Amino acid sequence: NQQVYKHLNAFVGPRHEATLIQEHTWNLRDADKRRDGDTAKSAIDGYLIAVKDNICTPEEPTTCASAILEGFHSPYPATVVDKLKHAGALIAGKANLDEFGMGSDTVNSIYGAVKNIYTQDGDPLSAGGSSGGSAVAVATGQCDAALGTDTGGSVRLPAAFTGITGFKPSYGMVSRWGVVAYANSLDTVGILAKDSSMARKVFNTIKGFDSQDPTSISVSTRSRIAQQLLERKAKLGWGDKPSVRIGVPLEYNTAELQTEIRRAWLNILQGLRDQGHKIHMLSLPATKTALSAYYVLAPAEASSNLAKYDGVRYGNKASALERADNVLFASTRGARLGEEVKRRILLGSYSLSAAAIDNYFIKAQKVRRLVQKDFNNAFALSHPLLRWQDESGNQPKVDVILTPTAQSLPPKLSSLKNRASVESYSADVLTVPASLAGIPALSLPVPTPGHDGGDPNTPNSVGIQVIGQYGDEEMVFSVALSIE
Ligand code: GLN
Repeated sequence: NQQVYKHLNAFVGPRHEATLIQEHTWNLRDADKRRDGDTAKSAIDGYLIAVKDNICTPEEPTTCASAILEGFHSPYPATVVDKLKHAGALIAGKANLDEFGMGSDTVNSIYGAVKNIYTQDGDPLSAGGSSGGSAVAVATGQCDAALGTDTGGSVRLPAAFTGITGFKPSYGMVSRWGVVAYANSLDTVGILAKDSSMARKVFNTIKGFDSQDPTSISVSTRSRIAQQLLERKAKLGWGDKPSVRIGVPLEYNTAELQTEIRRAWLNILQGLRDQGHKIHMLSLPATKTALSAYYVLAPAEASSNLAKYDGVRYGNKASALERADNVLFASTRGARLGEEVKRRILLGSYSLSAAAIDNYFIKAQKVRRLVQKDFNNAFALSHPLLRWQDESGNQPKVDVILTPTAQSLPPKLSSLKNRASVESYSADVLTVPASLAGIPALSLPVPTPGHDGGDPNTPNSVGIQVIGQYGDEEMVFSVALSIE
């Protein structure tokens, strides 16, 4: 087993080298350090948690799977890592990722691609990205849960591809201090776990106000959100057997949606209706333009955030050989950043340039607003941070929105080699809207219709996404729990 796990390439860093991580993991498992009940410090005391390698841990390097940060040791831990440790959790190790979080298959890594636990015709499948290492670490049972980051779907897509649960909280609920920025207006720390109740335990541990993160939601807003939720619970008679209003956005039923996935979605909706929940069709018209807007905004922010990796302020200098032309910044960045990262920096610098900003960046910001408004008009609960008029006419109001997480099952890794980058960008089409709106979204595995169980190596589940109003993570978890 340990050899197999090593070959999947979920973990990186020094401990990964000598298969130490597996031994470490299994020793802990054997000793069963998990503490439950009265003696436990917290709900995750003694649990083993992997951390994506763009989240700072001072004990070992934080590299973002980039040559430019090879060997970089952060002098301080990320707030989320600190919180895990205080709760008694054990850090399993650093998980592999797409360089700086840019990718949807965890293939853009100096450590090599992560392989899914599933195969097709003997070929390894994509684990999704960019938190593919975190997902495979959980799917193989090498840890109880893992931290990932989700900017446009990087926790939800790998969860869907590996048959586990992936949760992205509302923007600002979990501190980003010590998390390497990719597109900071979209970046969130998310959680990968076997099921929603484990993900919820980790979320409750890592959430909270952090003065180090300027976008962290304040204590007073948090209590206002909590108050709003209590009032709603009282009104809905929440707790006994609430009937939840579930929205089904027509725009997510794309022509590209694979048949199994559409069938799985319908099965789940049927099941929820049988449980007494109400299903409402609705329209989120800006969905179609969300992906293009994301791929303008995320690279624009990245081009700014990654400017500091120049070999002087941050990052390893290019060697004398690489630096034959004596241009330190350019040769360092040319030699030490990967192709996809360079592509994003070029894209972002272009869309922010004087000639292009009006047609690209400003337009994309407007689309982002429309996406936010669409969601806001759909939810019965009002947005705790925004005062918006309802512009939806007589659309039904819902508590959550239910969609597939991805349009297709995981592709073969071998098929990605000759794929144009826009093709991998389209893998995020169903996850990006909730990112642009900053609202909570969870992907959970549901059975693949027609999977006869004959070949346990092929994916036997597809990802279904539950999206909630800003700050309404409890509703998202509770709907996920009623599906599981
Ligand atoms: N695949 C998307 C991208 O490459 C999302 C990445 C993420 O959420 N970190 O930008």
